[in-house]
Amino acid sequence: MHWVHWLVVCLSVLLTFGAWHFSKMQIAKRVESRFHLEADRAVELIKERMELYEYALWASAALFDASERVDHAEWITYANSLRIDQSYPGINGIGVIHNLQPSELEAYLDRERLTRPDYRIHPEHKESEYWPITYIEPASANIKAVGLDMAFESNRYTAIKKARDTGKAQLTGPIVLVQDDMMTPGFLFYTPFYKGGHKPTTTEERQALIEGVTYAPFIMCKLMHGTLAQQNRHVGLSIRDGDDPLYHDEHLGGQDVGDEEPLYRKRVDVPMYGRTWTFDLWSDSDFLTASSDSQPYMILMGGLLIDMLLLALFVLLSRANRNALAYADRMTEELRVRTEHLEKSNKELDEFSYVASHDLQEPLRKLQSFSTLLRQDVGDSLNENAQTDLKYISESANRMQTLVKDLLALSRTGRSEMETSTIPLRQCALRAIEDLDQRITESGAQITLDDLPEVEGDATLLNQLYQNLISNAVKYCDSTPVIRLTAQREGGVPVFGVHDNGIGIKQEYQDQIFVAFKRLHGRDEYEGTGVGLATCRKVVERHGGELWVESEVGGGSHFKFTLGIRRGVIA
Ligand code: ADP
Repeated sequence: MHWVHWLVVCLSVLLTFGAWHFSKMQIAKRVESRFHLEADRAVELIKERMELYEYALWASAALFDASERVDHAEWITYANSLRIDQSYPGINGIGVIHNLQPSELEAYLDRERLTRPDYRIHPEHKESEYWPITYIEPASANIKAVGLDMAFESNRYTAIKKARDTGKAQLTGPIVLVQDDMMTPGFLFYTPFYKGGHKPTTTEERQALIEGVTYAPFIMCKLMHGTLAQQNRHVGLSIRDGDDPLYHDEHLGGQDVGDEEPLYRKRVDVPMYGRTWTFDLWSDSDFLTASSDSQPYMILMGGLLIDMLLLALFVLLSRANRNALAYADRMTEELRVRTEHLEKSNKELDEFSYVASHDLQEPLRKLQSFSTLLRQDVGDSLNENAQTDLKYISESANRMQTLVKDLLALSRTGRSEMETSTIPLRQCALRAIEDLDQRITESGAQITLDDLPEVEGDATLLNQLYQNLISNAVKYCDSTPVIRLTAQREGGVPVFGVHDNGIGIKQEYQDQIFVAFKRLHGRDEYEGTGVGLATCRKVVERHGGELWVESEVGGGSHFKFTLGIRRGVIA
């Protein structure tokens, strides 16, 4: 295979891996942003849910703003109408906590014991005020919380005071609810309300006017199940408040942050009603599977398949190319051998005809001179028949000598060294006309010349070419010859020629006349040996050109030739 083929295949493989890698990166980016989206959604969901609870607590606080006193029965009715189970999943209950100064304690207890004789505040503590849970619904799930005094423990107490002082909703830090037997982390959510429905604006006013807080206890895992249970998510999360754990996701089949390193993780701090919750989120083992995309794989497989096809194609092409080259080499070699063979036999033939014609001259000359001597010695004594025979012998010898001379000329034309130079064709033609002066004058021929250019060639051979063609044009004409030496362009190639108004040549003979000794007429009609045109063709071929004739019987002939280019090349 050619190096270009290898280059193309290598580039194509590189491109395939590049596309595969790029597509993988794109998908990884998409998966990552999906993780962030899902993580943000989980956090957002919890925030929304907390807002929902906040509204419920403010609504409860509004109940106390609107009413002089809300008794137990009213609270039960109110709490029932909230339909906590359906509207607020995750909430453990909704209740109210009153703020009592020691002076108010007895009146408070008397009032509550009217309907609930065993109501008591617990546990004891050293603080100078009381924050007992007055009501909490549903009562059954929160029985242990009824009467619990928030001041007994600093986490609950600090948060409630903060709610009082700020007038805002407030969370406690993580605590264990008394009603949670599982002892898991939870928290309380307070919203304060003030005496007479006031909305005090300063801390002092708030401290002076505080009546109590509405509140909701939360067991964290219950809240989370209520909030996120419906969500088909592939991110796990854990929530901390400072260093205290609030929640750790069990949702993901035991996968832990400490397990095999998750693909993506994220930490967000979210301000949450006076506290800051830290969310840790991570992708689970199914996350990648759920987000997986076969696109890069398809690109890789498809690309490699194309590369393989390309390789196969190149291999086939190279093989075909090699075969073609081998075939061409074989043909060239065959052609070379044949040409050599042909050249050799042509040379042998030339040498043979040269030797033959040369050697024939000697006996011919002898035949001529001895027949002349014979006629001189005994000519007069011979009878008429014998004299006629002697005359025939002499004529035949003469004719034979002309033939041999022409043959020698033809042979020389093929054998002589070419002397190529730039020559004016016009000069060649004029010299030929001059050489034929006598015959031209006798026949009264009129000769005109086109604008003949300079050409590359052998002056002697081209002169001979014009001589033969002009003498034929003069000879094969029954009227006064009108001859034109032409120079034209055919298909962009210069074509020269000799045009006459002679007897013309039949179509079927137009090829044969160029063969040596081929004549179309008897000697008594037109003189000649039939070698002239064969010589002409040889001259033109030695100049790398071609000779042909265009003619009609009775319509004259136009012998045309090219130099340095074959006629077949002319379009
Ligand atoms: P030669 O003229 O000696 O017979 P050539 O080889 O010159 O031999 O010509 C071969 C034959 O071609 C001639 O016998 C003649 O019949 C024919 N020929 C050649 N030139 C012309 C021409 N200009 N017009 C008609 N016929 C021609």
